Amino acid sequence: MRPARPNAHPLKTLSALSALSALSALSALSALAAPAPALTLEPFAVWATPEQLTADCDAALADAAAARDQLKGLRRADLTLTLALKGHNKISARLDRPYGLSGLLFNVHPDEALRAAAQGCEQRLSKFTSDLALDRGLFEVFSAVRAEEVQGADPDARRLYELVMRDFKRAGVHLSDEARARLAQINEELTRLSQDYLKNINDDTKTLYVDDPARLKGLPEDFVAAKVAEAAARAKAGGDGRVRLSTDYPDFFPFEQYAEDRALRADLYRLFLSRGMPQNAELLTRVLKLRHEYANLLGAPTWAEYNAGDKMVRDAKTIAGFLEQITAITRPIADRELAQLLRRVQRDDPAARAVEVWDRFYYTHKLREEERSFDAKQVRPYFGYAAVKDGVFALYGELFGLSFERDAGQPVWAEGVEAYRLLRDGRVVGRFFLDMHPRPSKYKHAAMFPVQTGLKGGGLPVASLVCNFPQPRAASAGQGDPGLMEHSEVTTFFHEFGHLIHHLLAQESPWVRLSGINVEWDFVEAPSQILEEWAWDHGALSRFARHAETGEVIAKDLVARMRAAEELGKGVAVMRQIFYASYSFFLHHQDPSALKLEEFSQEMYKKYSPYPAVAGGAEYANFGHLMGYSSMYYTYQWSLVIAKDLFTRFEREGLLNVDAARAYAKEILARGGAAPAAELVRGFLGRDYTMEAYQRWLERGQ
Ligand SMILES: [Zn+2]
Repeated sequence: MRPARPNAHPLKTLSALSALSALSALSALSALAAPAPALTLEPFAVWATPEQLTADCDAALADAAAARDQLKGLRRADLTLTLALKGHNKISARLDRPYGLSGLLFNVHPDEALRAAAQGCEQRLSKFTSDLALDRGLFEVFSAVRAEEVQGADPDARRLYELVMRDFKRAGVHLSDEARARLAQINEELTRLSQDYLKNINDDTKTLYVDDPARLKGLPEDFVAAKVAEAAARAKAGGDGRVRLSTDYPDFFPFEQYAEDRALRADLYRLFLSRGMPQNAELLTRVLKLRHEYANLLGAPTWAEYNAGDKMVRDAKTIAGFLEQITAITRPIADRELAQLLRRVQRDDPAARAVEVWDRFYYTHKLREEERSFDAKQVRPYFGYAAVKDGVFALYGELFGLSFERDAGQPVWAEGVEAYRLLRDGRVVGRFFLDMHPRPSKYKHAAMFPVQTGLKGGGLPVASLVCNFPQPRAASAGQGDPGLMEHSEVTTFFHEFGHLIHHLLAQESPWVRLSGINVEWDFVEAPSQILEEWAWDHGALSRFARHAETGEVIAKDLVARMRAAEELGKGVAVMRQIFYASYSFFLHHQDPSALKLEEFSQEMYKKYSPYPAVAGGAEYANFGHLMGYSSMYYTYQWSLVIAKDLFTRFEREGLLNVDAARAYAKEILARGGAAPAAELVRGFLGRDYTMEAYQRWLERGQ
């Protein structure tokens, strides 16, 4: 379990997509994503210039439009289910890579003009797919397919047909011309507003200046040394010699965990929570109103209700019930932990009346140190970035029978980005990129961006990980810096790589809509969450976690203490996740016309947050998931319930049991969206999943 993070978790492009579109029409037509054919191994170089990217995008749109017209022009006498589906798939496939690339490059490319071109491309693609979902003529073609033909079709074709028809209806194809025009307009606006909101976060790195390096007391030596050296280099170059701390993760998380200076921790946290302000408050308000109007046009009382319609949960009531249920289990645990934390804070500051949000990492860590004899600084030296990366490759390779090969000849978009080939039985079956360290104007969180969907008989899957891990530096004068990671970052690496492998292995269907990570959105985290478990296992860790200086392998006892320590603070961490889930859900489950963001936030803090609201903090301005996941942040706990149950089979059969891993890959990962998630889970477990394992995990250690 990774500590709950302010913004919780990754997005992936598709989510960015659905963010953009605010519509399930899109998710439907995210189907409408994916070029396939010859793109497989030729260099990906459309990011060379903005013009090239734009030309590539427009060519795809023109081809897709031609395929659409061809489909619409089919004589009814010639129409068959296969022809209709193939036509649909052709459009999806042709738009897939431009969709993936524009979503990725908008978030990572160092050149502003290229980011703008990517943004424009994404807007045009989004408009095209939204129009397509509202295209009456196209809908009529699909409606004209004979029912007997659908009944007699193979399961994949039948499922695809049903999904396409459902997506048309969810998009509002049956509504009046006027309503459809308004839906299309809302989609367009939502795409733009969501992009702007995310861009404001990407562009907004705040800096805290520290005059006296002594105020870094408590931080790991490697961290302090790097900061002091950086400041000295700036002073030498004529700048001021102050230490700089940024709101980017490699500074933010260690600082909040280790810095003894409570006032500075508070300062950095306030800066962190002010990112995106003031513009994003205004953008979010507009987004909420548009989503609400959109849902109303489609007959749903709120966006949360509408949005739930194509997820595992099916309706808003189920989400509310689920949140209530997990709150009931978690709150007593969190309350006990909070009381313990407060007593510890008061030993340092007898006047403290509450555990503040900037106390959470620091005092949780303190308690783990004092009561469970575990100091996170002891494991840090075992997790140099390069060692962790090699370890992730080795482990995923062993479990799933894969190997990874660096592709140095492949052009990339920024220095330090690495390209790889994924091989199975010596054959290239996918490609991916690692963009793992912070840069100005780059995406700030950790995410997997699907770039291209793998198809049977079609293109190879491509994806990119985008993270913000510490950057290793080669030794120049004196010592090098291995880029030591916190264990929580190691689990994030395992998590994101889980998304990546899911996307790359789901390539058994010829249909874009059923391939890759096109699963129900509230299942999408399970395949990444389950792989976090390996980051807690000594057997797995001992394969790669070696001390950066001594080379010694991480000790079993140290891992055991780390696991025991993690139990302390788990209730609070989950409660924090419930807070985010409730925030995202209730924000979208009301009429926003009279909504006051500040008041709403205060109310959510009071009801769900383990910590008081921060004066001047504005989570609604930097909670990126409000775009991508909108009302669905509950997904993380919903998926975790499933992940914990899936993991029971590994607990029984062994974490490094290759048969179990291969069965998991076959029954779940490789199937992509070929069946509803609950069915895939049944295929692997041999029964329906239950809450039992999740509850046992939550209450363990109590
Ligand atoms: Zn994730």
